[in-house]
Amino acid sequence: AQEIGGTDKEVVREYFNTTGFDRWKKIYGDATEGVNKVQLDIRLGHAKTVENAILMLKDGGPLSGVSVCDAGCGTGSLAIPLAREGAIVSANDISAAMVAEARRQADEAISGVEGLTFPKFEVRDLEGLEGKYHTVVCLDVLIHYPQEKAEGMIAHLASLAEERLVLSFAPKTLYYSFLKRLGELFPGPSKATRAYLHAESDVERALEKVGWRVRRRGFTSTQFYFAKLVEAVPVA
Ligand code: SAM
Repeated sequence: AQEIGGTDKEVVREYFNTTGFDRWKKIYGDATEGVNKVQLDIRLGHAKTVENAILMLKDGGPLSGVSVCDAGCGTGSLAIPLAREGAIVSANDISAAMVAEARRQADEAISGVEGLTFPKFEVRDLEGLEGKYHTVVCLDVLIHYPQEKAEGMIAHLASLAEERLVLSFAPKTLYYSFLKRLGELFPGPSKATRAYLHAESDVERALEKVGWRVRRRGFTSTQFYFAKLVEAVPVA
């Protein structure tokens, strides 16, 4: 993968406001026209991660009235179904283009539906998030940051969560590292940003450092998409 220059965060923001926005809006959308095989495969894998995250969250009880922060919300793939479940959702993203698209999709899907709270969408990077939420979720964002930065992000997300933190990330295993080196993963224009895999043990250590432990785990993989899902809770 190539790097454009500048810091990782600036590169990521720029990417998700421009070519990355076009690419990911397409991947996370419903249309099939102009969507290639790889993108359709990633759509499928990501949809499974979202579905598994929702199942994990609902397993802890109904979401109605539960405050949830969706950090790095993208086009709202998680925020919108959570709001449909009655959760009080705060959804944020570093990319203004993503936030605008998420708000547009939410408008279309749930605006004016009685009994639901429209998500609070904000352009904000997750390091700048404040407040306390019952639940914090951060799906497929850590892939844009190396482990040393990911560790600080995990600590910060945990500090915002009262009861649980749900994270997904691309696991660093021998097998996936090998495929990545071969260039088999992250094909196409996503190569404009670096993609970082994270060892599950490193993610767990980052959580343990701030007094959290992993309670449940899940894993999704398709041909071009793979993500580990963990639910962490404070150590009692
Ligand atoms: N979480 C969404 C989902 O699963 O549908 C979007 C995943 S997308 C691969 C990654 C998202 O993370 C992009 O929308 C990007 O703008 C956002 N992002 C990257 N770095 C971020 C940061 N530091 N703070 C907030 N959002 C960030």
